[in-house]
Amino acid sequence: MRMRPEGDRADLMLARLGESGLKLTPQRIAIVRELADDSSHPTAQELFDRLAPAMPTMSFATVYNTLDALARCNLIEARALAPGATRFDPNVEPHHHAVCDRCGCVADVAPRPRSTSVDASLPDGFAVRAVEQIFRGTCQRCRDADGGD
Ligand SMILES: [Zn+2]
Ligand SMILES: [Zn+2]
Repeated sequence: MRMRPEGDRADLMLARLGESGLKLTPQRIAIVRELADDSSHPTAQELFDRLAPAMPTMSFATVYNTLDALARCNLIEARALAPGATRFDPNVEPHHHAVCDRCGCVADVAPRPRSTSVDASLPDGFAVRAVEQIFRGTCQRCRDADGGD
């Protein structure tokens, strides 16, 4: 699901990243453009594998460092949604996730408006900033694969 018109998000991220003092090399620009409108919550390795054919001199460290800089500027969220590598999410608005137990795919789940109440006992004095839930189960594709032919 795209929250903003295409292109807009990448431009905003690049502008803010530049303001943070990071030099906007062609490789870093390509990484930002690849992630900005990606709702699949890719890992650093997945982004590297996608970009490497077009940028053979790019290192994995460049991908990782760029993602780290974006996360520190609050332009993306680093998320631990399932065992394994951290996934990177260009959607920084509070939202929920549906995670497939089998293939590990992650989909955004839009929160209901004003759903800030929590069905849990919070520690005393804890102020809630956002409520983000993870729905675990089996995605449609894996269920279809189950259904025989
Ligand atoms: Zn699945
Ligand atoms: Zn997400």
